[in-house]
Amino acid sequence: MATAGIAGLCGPSFEESGLSIEEVAGRGRAIIAKRPFKEDETLFIESPLMSCQFSWNREYKYLACEYCLRSLETAEEMACRLSSQPSIDLPLSADCCESKPSTYVKCPDCEVQYCSAPCQQMAAERYHRGVCEGRMDAQRRELFSELKETWRNMHYPPETTNIEVLARCFSAPAESPYGQHLFQQLELLVHGTTSEDEEFQHKLLQPDYAVSLLKLCMVPLTVL
Ligand SMILES: [Zn+2]
Ligand SMILES: [Zn+2]
Repeated sequence: MATAGIAGLCGPSFEESGLSIEEVAGRGRAIIAKRPFKEDETLFIESPLMSCQFSWNREYKYLACEYCLRSLETAEEMACRLSSQPSIDLPLSADCCESKPSTYVKCPDCEVQYCSAPCQQMAAERYHRGVCEGRMDAQRRELFSELKETWRNMHYPPETTNIEVLARCFSAPAESPYGQHLFQQLELLVHGTTSEDEEFQHKLLQPDYAVSLLKLCMVPLTVL
């Protein structure tokens, strides 16, 4: 499932994994290996601090849990639904993926779906109240819709991020432990780094995107 997000470390710490984060002169912040690693060894695992389905992915009606982004149907179910051909038989589909509709729940206000009640609860605690379209008044819903459409028309597939991640971040309760952790982590984000040959920046900061950013600014930010 295609997703956009901001990651945070989970599982063992960097130090326990034999890694450290250090500033390297001329290169910026870097992850340094403190011991030899075997081929295919996992260095570290990150879980998303905030994530969101890609906008075109959602527009094309790929069903995913609104919180953890797990697919809500098997590949075969998806192929049958999207093609309107109920007889499609995908080989190995049952071995590769499963769906458990009995655990799925919906937001009672906007009807987005979750794979489970715990996912619904996490979304409610972390951000969903601020982006639930069922709870917005008509004007705000229209602005939110305009923001998403403007973004979609700026970022055709293959997508790399989604502005809804930002909307979700702004919706996190700042006084909650999660909100405080999120904003601390966001302060660590860097938008540029350097390599031996050239300087990279987030592509949204490149001159090519100046017009697109201007268009986005014209969508009233009250929606966020
Ligand atoms: Zn889920
Ligand atoms: Zn909702």
